Amino acid sequence: MNQNSLQARTQARVLFVDMDSFFARCEQQVNYWLRGRPVGVCVYTGQFGCVISLSKEAKARGLKAGMRLNDAIKVCPDLVPVESNPARYREFHKKIIGVLKEYCQDVVPKSIDEAIINLTNYEHIHPDPVVVARRIKQDILSRVGDFLTCSVGIAPNAFLAKLGSGLGKKPPYDGLLVIDPQNIDSILRPLKLGDLPGIGSNMAYRLERGGIHTPLEMRYAPAHRLKAIFKSIEGMYWHYRLNFIETNIASHDYKGMQAQRQISAEKRQSMAYIEQLFMTLCLTLEKRMVRHKFYCKAIAFTARYKDENRWDDAFTITTPVQDAVSLMRMIRLRMESLKNSPTPPLF
Ligand SMILES: [Mg+2]
Repeated sequence: MNQNSLQARTQARVLFVDMDSFFARCEQQVNYWLRGRPVGVCVYTGQFGCVISLSKEAKARGLKAGMRLNDAIKVCPDLVPVESNPARYREFHKKIIGVLKEYCQDVVPKSIDEAIINLTNYEHIHPDPVVVARRIKQDILSRVGDFLTCSVGIAPNAFLAKLGSGLGKKPPYDGLLVIDPQNIDSILRPLKLGDLPGIGSNMAYRLERGGIHTPLEMRYAPAHRLKAIFKSIEGMYWHYRLNFIETNIASHDYKGMQAQRQISAEKRQSMAYIEQLFMTLCLTLEKRMVRHKFYCKAIAFTARYKDENRWDDAFTITTPVQDAVSLMRMIRLRMESLKNSPTPPLF
């Protein structure tokens, strides 16, 4: 189910659960001898095998995931290489998701060791998300595996909750961090751009060149400025993420699909023609969505004019759709809301 909405949420009710050193801990879970030792899980344990997950003890020795096994052993000669067991991790994953679903149905696994739990609509059942987070941590330990620890971030949207779960792994936090409108600025203040999940070195460089040097500056930069820096709608999403709007809860990650047509300046004057054009585009997309078994959760529109000017809009929808008629209805609703808005939120 899609949970994105353009409405800013202020209450921190989205949980992001991230298992600690998941593959390494799964191995330490089933093999008692590995506990307390520096463990490196590898897809292949030959000398050029790559370490994909490290136990806490191995991390403390300075090893990093992605190292070649021979390099890792030079740094940490007592490293215990273990060949990965994907079926084992999937089993634990299933059990963990089972525990999470006992609290709420809005659970979206994001990867084998991460999941989002959206308690937005569970205010009466779970008034305090921190209590839920503590119980989840305890339940996983007592019912799935006593060595399977996790970090939980709680925030008004999934992106900030993920940020919280990452920061929460380090002291002074103890695997639980709430990010809300009261503390967000103080949490962002010491961070560098690259500390934000999803901002790589290229993006950080582009932001710096655009005059944005920190996540805090990014949060207060207007959406259109970020959009200009990112040269895409993604810039707006960054503005949303840092300002409590949901953009990240989706069941599957897939690339968007697009359809486009060129029209003349005269034809553009006719509303009937535009409607017809939208319908054609929606039908094209419907065919492709059905073929690929995709559902649409977000719609973006760009009009590019001959003189290089452009006009963009993007919005997320609450119920995923796969058919042209529903898509068209969403687009009409959006057009109505833009007509009635006193200051169009567009450029
Ligand atoms: Mg993890």
